[in-house]
Amino acid sequence: MAKMNPGPIAYFEGNYVPIEEAKISVMTHAFNYGTGLFEGIRGYYNQEEDNVLLFRLKEHVDRMVRNCRIMCMEIPETATDIEHICAELIRRSGFKEDVYLRPVVYKSECSLGPAVKGVESRFCCYVIKLGDYCDTQSGLDVAVSSWRRLSDNAIPTRVKSTGSYINSSLAATEARQSGFHEAIFLRENGTVAEGSAMNIFMILNGKLITTPPNSDILVGITRNTIMEIAHDLLGVEVVERDIARTELYVCDELFFSGTGAQVAPVRSVDRRLLNDGKPGPLTLQLQETYFSVVQGREPKYRHWCTPVY
Ligand code: PMP
Repeated sequence: MAKMNPGPIAYFEGNYVPIEEAKISVMTHAFNYGTGLFEGIRGYYNQEEDNVLLFRLKEHVDRMVRNCRIMCMEIPETATDIEHICAELIRRSGFKEDVYLRPVVYKSECSLGPAVKGVESRFCCYVIKLGDYCDTQSGLDVAVSSWRRLSDNAIPTRVKSTGSYINSSLAATEARQSGFHEAIFLRENGTVAEGSAMNIFMILNGKLITTPPNSDILVGITRNTIMEIAHDLLGVEVVERDIARTELYVCDELFFSGTGAQVAPVRSVDRRLLNDGKPGPLTLQLQETYFSVVQGREPKYRHWCTPVY
């Protein structure tokens, strides 16, 4: 008899449980105050190897563990434990397809008051099946948001905190309600930050330009990946610098990067077409290289791919 697929499993309060059983109280600190931080990690199914490859698992776990310091979070699981739990969840769920892992560290205490020091934290994680999160083929129509990007001194943007996604959801909602696919955030000083849940890259005169780590962005692991493969595999000059709003209209190519978004070309900004409305040549080259890296087909970067089975 064929083995039944057990369905999605979550890691919750130290145990592997069916996802329906992973529930928190309404009094949970993180639910009331937005005091959670999380990661999004993709696993790509590689058909030839009949395996799921987790992309840059170590770097994602490392970012989460470091950011726990900002939020005064201490959990019993080590980085190595978390890496193991991520892979184990996919095995236990029996998934052999593209997946997305969502590890979360959250203030789990049922107590009043927003302070985080001395408030108990826990780690949980779940996995879902996930294909494309946004269009990666025809190009996105994007708008500069009327919402400003959070300032790092208000809610730290380098922490992928649950509370900070209010900012992202307002911008993404505004963009969609106005008929666009995505939003671009400006900072309080008027320069470009990033998309609602993705970093931004601009190509201008053959150079690949992205906003620097101190520009109120989440310093994306996909962003770092793109910078490295652009330089090392394609020989492209990469520049980190502020980007002015109007450069978005006059640049040669524009695309978003992110674990969810992958490499998503932008077709227009505020209804101004880029590159005749077609994804640009360097964007397409980077996208193709990125997909081959995440699927484990680039020997130089094979160490970024952790097999699950
Ligand atoms: N910025 C924001 C606000 C995001 O939510 C994401 C998605 N995690 C990114 C950038 C891209 O980060 P990464 O490449 O690490 O997924």
